[in-house]
Amino acid sequence: MSLSASALLDFASPFHVCCDREWKVASVGPSMAEHLDFDPTGRCLSDLLEFTRPKVSHPDGLNKLPRQLILLKLKGSGLDLRGQWNDMPWPGLDSGEAGRVLLCSPWVTSEDQWRQTGLKLRQLGPQDSSGEYLLLLAAAREQALDVARLADLATIRESRLERLVQRMREGLLLIDSEGRIESANPAACMLLGFRSTKIEGSLLDDLFSALPKQEDSSEDLEWLVKKSTGDNFKARGSRYSIRTRQGETHALLFRDVSEEEQALQMRRTFLSMVSHELRTPLSAIKAPLGMSLSGHLGQLAPKVRDVLEIATRNADRLHQLVDDVIDLERLESNALPLNPSKFKSGTLTQKLLDGLGTTATDAHVALDFEDDDFSLVGDQGRILQVITNLVINAIRHSPNGSTVHLRVLQQGSNARCEVTDEGPGIPEELRSRIFDRFFQVNSGTEQPTGGTGLGLAISRLIISQHGGQIGVETGPRGCGSTFWLELPIAGR
Ligand code: ADP
Repeated sequence: MSLSASALLDFASPFHVCCDREWKVASVGPSMAEHLDFDPTGRCLSDLLEFTRPKVSHPDGLNKLPRQLILLKLKGSGLDLRGQWNDMPWPGLDSGEAGRVLLCSPWVTSEDQWRQTGLKLRQLGPQDSSGEYLLLLAAAREQALDVARLADLATIRESRLERLVQRMREGLLLIDSEGRIESANPAACMLLGFRSTKIEGSLLDDLFSALPKQEDSSEDLEWLVKKSTGDNFKARGSRYSIRTRQGETHALLFRDVSEEEQALQMRRTFLSMVSHELRTPLSAIKAPLGMSLSGHLGQLAPKVRDVLEIATRNADRLHQLVDDVIDLERLESNALPLNPSKFKSGTLTQKLLDGLGTTATDAHVALDFEDDDFSLVGDQGRILQVITNLVINAIRHSPNGSTVHLRVLQQGSNARCEVTDEGPGIPEELRSRIFDRFFQVNSGTEQPTGGTGLGLAISRLIISQHGGQIGVETGPRGCGSTFWLELPIAGR
């Protein structure tokens, strides 16, 4: 037995409705009929279905229905459906008559909802040549429903995202290709002091003026932003390009950082003030300690010498901390300009070895070096300060009897310096923080190293002032660490 056209339609779309051009119902699919508690024949389509998107509040509105992506509810049962319609003759229509078929599928997002639809594969008639066709059709329908479920999932995600955008504290602007604001989230309106309807259409450049980026800012951009009141504030954020089928738009994510900046500035001023104030009394403490230890004030009993040596070490450490804080503050406020000159890398390496030879020997660590001896331009003193810091760190963290390797190489237009040790290394999750101010890795087993936690922060500022980069990775043999830096040979 071969299947009739109407059986096929029932099978392929159990939630269909056949109507005439005036939207009068002629017949409905079996699942639609199961969910209705009245005979829909001859009734208007809007008597059985509620159109939720687009909304149709009067039967005349049916003539404006789009052909696809219609969201509906089956009246009475409240079952959600998604539909599309087409002008086509339905099975049983007299030839020449025009008909309309609305094909719906349940809009389900969970297995439970799926079961509520009562949809299952129907066995239609004995297996024959159409059996294979039926299976294909069934598979196609399942696939179509899968796609619908995926689309629903996407809709749910979209609405979650929408809620997030509405509630987030960062301002979010969508900008069209001409640089006009297309839409703004509530935070953006609040930060800019506009109502959302007022801000749309404004030119971004009228409100946002780009500022030069701070060296240590992890965000992409900084702006001076003009509010509707005429006041300005400093913002930080990022700009993204979004390609859609309609063309390219941009998204701007920003936050007001003026309070943060103010607090940072106050902290810097305070630190710098305290550091400067500490310098003089510290020198006054260190001088007599030095005089006593040198024997200028007479012979010292061994116990007194021990105590004075401890006091000197701590005074030295405090002095180092004060110097580091002052350095950092000057570098951050650009009050320490570079003094570039042309020099040979070999001179630098030699100065470094001369300065640190005894430190390495005292720590029972060997120093090994390799240098391409090439010319480069930069602030020699500052670059030496950075590499010295890396080598001292490497020595401090090296086990007795191990070797610290220093390599100064020319790589194209860059100078690359690597300091490798056989110490405990830096855990991967801490590598991004190791260059932050006052950050020290606390392995729990390590002895205090006497450092200040500022050396790498200072190094990063110096290297980025030179237009270079600094980083850390695991040593070449899978243990220890390799601190590296790269600088343009020709200088900045
Ligand atoms: P510090 O004055 O404490 O050495 P740095 O900024 O130079 O300050 O280093 C920050 C921290 O990074 C150190 O306290 C130490 O925990 C870790 N560190 C630096 N270099 C090494 C290294 N070669 N091996 C292991 N840990 C290191």
